[in-house]
Amino acid sequence: MNHLEEIRAKLNIEEVVGSYIQLKKAGRNLKGLCPFHNDSRPSFTVSPEKGIAYCFSCNTGGDIFKFVQLIENVEFPEAVRILADRANVPLPDFKPQAHNQRLRIIEANGSATKFFQEQLDKDKRKYFLDRGLTEETIQKFRLGYAPDSYNSLKDHLVKIGYTEKEILDGGLLTQRSIADKNTYDKFRKRFVFPILDHQDNIVGFGGRIDGDGEPKYLNSPDTPAYNKSFVLYGLNWGKDMIKKEDLAIFVEGYMDVIAAHQAGTENTVATSGTALTIHQLKLIKRYTPNIAFSFDQDPAGLEATKRSIELAQEAEMNIKIIEVPLGKDPDECIKESPEKWKEAIINAVPVMDFYLSYSLKQFDRETLSGKKEIMNFMLPLIKQHKGEVEQNEYLERLALEIKTDIKLLWNDLKNLTLKKGYQPTTSSEPKTVPVKQIFSREEYLLGFIFQYPNSYSIVDENLIDSVPFDPNTEKFYKACKKVYNRLSAVGIEALREELDSEDHGKVEIYSLLIEEHYPDFADDAAEKEVMNLVSSINRSNLINVQKEYEFRIRAAKDSEEKTLLLNQYNQILKLKTKIN
Ligand SMILES: [Zn+2]
Repeated sequence: MNHLEEIRAKLNIEEVVGSYIQLKKAGRNLKGLCPFHNDSRPSFTVSPEKGIAYCFSCNTGGDIFKFVQLIENVEFPEAVRILADRANVPLPDFKPQAHNQRLRIIEANGSATKFFQEQLDKDKRKYFLDRGLTEETIQKFRLGYAPDSYNSLKDHLVKIGYTEKEILDGGLLTQRSIADKNTYDKFRKRFVFPILDHQDNIVGFGGRIDGDGEPKYLNSPDTPAYNKSFVLYGLNWGKDMIKKEDLAIFVEGYMDVIAAHQAGTENTVATSGTALTIHQLKLIKRYTPNIAFSFDQDPAGLEATKRSIELAQEAEMNIKIIEVPLGKDPDECIKESPEKWKEAIINAVPVMDFYLSYSLKQFDRETLSGKKEIMNFMLPLIKQHKGEVEQNEYLERLALEIKTDIKLLWNDLKNLTLKKGYQPTTSSEPKTVPVKQIFSREEYLLGFIFQYPNSYSIVDENLIDSVPFDPNTEKFYKACKKVYNRLSAVGIEALREELDSEDHGKVEIYSLLIEEHYPDFADDAAEKEVMNLVSSINRSNLINVQKEYEFRIRAAKDSEEKTLLLNQYNQILKLKTKIN
């Protein structure tokens, strides 16, 4: 047993969390006031069975080590030391080593950055130049290239004095599984973006595949030097301008950040390898309370915007939304015209405007049911606004968009009582905890699969996986399918082996999410809800594809292309009638 396992075996999560906050029994779990947001009702759930503690309001938590890291605001090695003391597990000279370990990883990352930069030859450089970056920008962001090799970085770092273990701990090497201890370079055949924290330490890397391949983007795992929830890409170069402009702009990708900085809007940052966290918002709040989101305008990007707004409202920040012209990514827009990007920043719209255009994109305003869905989405949001003048303004716009009488809308608004979050359809008991909808339907469905593994056969049979899927959850579905095809069941242990270690914690979190929302569901009730979720995911995926085809058919250049597209379009419609 290594010392981490020994600590885990000696301490249980309810004792560790219970020493910081008061916990009360709630079914098979315990609950307390969340220490990570301004909680008025007990939102923090501790699951002794799953060994995790998590808040589904602010999306924060994890196992004992993660919890101590968060609550003590310390790095991983320090959390280990605190818990080792508590568990009476001796850690011989661990303390200096912990500090050294972080420094050694940062040093190794520096050497790796130089190595990657040297590999970015004239030919590879073209990738960045073609995307509009200047030579100066490539230097400033220390962009590089990881060759198509399993050991060239490892050999280089070992040669200059790092041990294999240090390189592995820093996340630059990876192991196929716990059983197979052989290590190899994690980043291969990728364009590499070094990730610096706000104090200019190189803490990790992001890599984009050269050409086609999966995954398109790969990130360093959390390491003693790199805690993703606390790092924002671009902040080290952008913090002065954020203060000066009194505004921080959030974009989605590394290239968006770099292009924005090159265009002179250096007050731009991005999360890397995680959804936005409350810690990142707190970090930004040191510099400004004003933020603007400019995420992709595809369905996943819209969903990310919606979640981020909810989180930023929680953090009491002033939020605007930047709508990049022509539905492009910031990086594409900037390449075409930096002026248009700057205009878009000046013309950033309030959150309510975003919600209105979001609902109009999400639902079909030409149909009665679509109108109903738009109203169901918008009215509660409008109701939250205090002033009647403001409410009237939004109702007027809504009435105009969906061609409805404003008097009817006012009537509906008056009769509306505010309910928050995703409502389970057949929960027997009233919920004790209001949970914000920060998880997608795809994530709920995963939760069901993990909590009720038997229900996977329904997913396998009914989920249409030939249509676009939520990129954040796709890897989990692929892993489930692989395990299911092999074992005819989704065994959680087998599933873990298919997942990167950084995703392991998600399995518990998703399954706890279900335990929270659907207390003590019987198997048949679970299966029914699984089927509901599958249908709803299929439906919205197909609607998106349908819309895309409609757009492409309109834009088709000749009749031949049009016929081909129409044929595919009819297939989609057929699938759609089949699932309705
Ligand atoms: Zn919380």
